[in-house]
Amino acid sequence: MPYFYLNAFIDSRLFISPFFSRRLDESAHQPQVAAAMTFVVTDNCILCKHTDCVEVCPVDCFYEGPNFLVIDPDECIDCALCEPECPANAIFSEDEVPKGQEIYIGLNEELAQKWPNITEMKDSLPDAEKWDGVEDKLQYLEK
Ligand code: SF4
Ligand code: SF4
Repeated sequence: MPYFYLNAFIDSRLFISPFFSRRLDESAHQPQVAAAMTFVVTDNCILCKHTDCVEVCPVDCFYEGPNFLVIDPDECIDCALCEPECPANAIFSEDEVPKGQEIYIGLNEELAQKWPNITEMKDSLPDAEKWDGVEDKLQYLEK
């Protein structure tokens, strides 16, 4: 390569390389899109159904079955407003669902497609007090 062209080639690399390295550096610091999270209704809601939760949900993503409520994971915006409202402590963030109750993550997703939307509070089921805290109520879930 003639001396003139060799010099021009080296100069251009020295000029361009900081530009590209900065671009690469910037792309490495782009904000990452967080994975979508949801809240999940679990075992202790079965046969209680107090419905305090539906009053606070800003996107109306609760769905009502005969003796249980579920949250549609595609609609939940992960605001956490419903969690402290539940008198039965039945609502958890998806990543904090108690061990052994992981099945409710799939049940919320499945039943939200099947049951009607509920947006207003109503009376809890007649034996809600009696069933509050009883373990393993999945066997009583009516779909
Ligand atoms: S407040 Fe709790 S127990 Fe009542 S319907 Fe909502 S999730 Fe179920
Ligand atoms: S976390 Fe927020 S959006 Fe999701 S169900 Fe609860 S109140 Fe609704």
